[in-house]
Amino acid sequence: MGTPSDKKLINENGLRLDGRGDEELRPIKISTDILERADGSAFMEWGGNKILVAVYGPREAYPKHTQDIEKSVVKARYNMAAFSVDERKRPGPDRRSTEISKVISEALSAAVMVEQFPRTQIDVFIEVIQADAGTRIASLTAASVALASAGIPMRDMVVGCSAGKVEDRIVLDLSKDEDNFGQADLPMAVLSKNKQVVLIQMDGDLSKEEFARATDMIMKATDRIAEIQRKALSEKYKIENLSESQNGGE
Ligand code: UDP
Repeated sequence: MGTPSDKKLINENGLRLDGRGDEELRPIKISTDILERADGSAFMEWGGNKILVAVYGPREAYPKHTQDIEKSVVKARYNMAAFSVDERKRPGPDRRSTEISKVISEALSAAVMVEQFPRTQIDVFIEVIQADAGTRIASLTAASVALASAGIPMRDMVVGCSAGKVEDRIVLDLSKDEDNFGQADLPMAVLSKNKQVVLIQMDGDLSKEEFARATDMIMKATDRIAEIQRKALSEKYKIENLSESQNGGE
């Protein structure tokens, strides 16, 4: 959370700086199959975030000591481009990206049927090319679509969203200013059908009641976001089925 500031985050009409109500999401768009060489890929725009995900695998895990004889290892690598933020980010891995890569890898492992592919790895390369708060849950949500578009067996999709506290109000999907100058940020991700929590982190403080309200808002929002994921994938599979039936008819 940023330093205390007199920046107003809620206007006189009770709306947020970008005109949203408390429970409103920023616009979200997802498309699949962006990259020819990847086994699966997705491009996500979530508010001002622009994120590209490429999936490769399952393929033999390398180096060999990283192999698990019982399951595939999901290796997500989150990277923020130097030009993705206002103040140039120093290129290369840092503590933040290492942490985000780890929590995303763990969350995705809960969804992928890793036990079907022992000794392999599934690489998930995440490139944030424009960052505008909430990149970890946007990346995770997009990565889940990219894995599905690669045809990797999954028990469920992972879907994420954040909520937080701004001027003592609990609001959904923090913008950059709200993240910087707000009081708390709670990114969370669940498996979309059974709502098992696969990622939860918190920056700032929330009371028990505020926490319950924030998680409740997130849970409701994940249904809406899961629908956008489904649409992105159904576009892909509709088109593929069409071309298959056309080929079959020739
Ligand atoms: N950010 C930045 N420079 C950095 C890291 C982050 O400007 O080196 C910005 C970026 O817009 C990011 C936001 O701060 O989305 C919030 O970062 P946080 O660590 O909370 O992760 P996120 O909300 O993106 O998951």
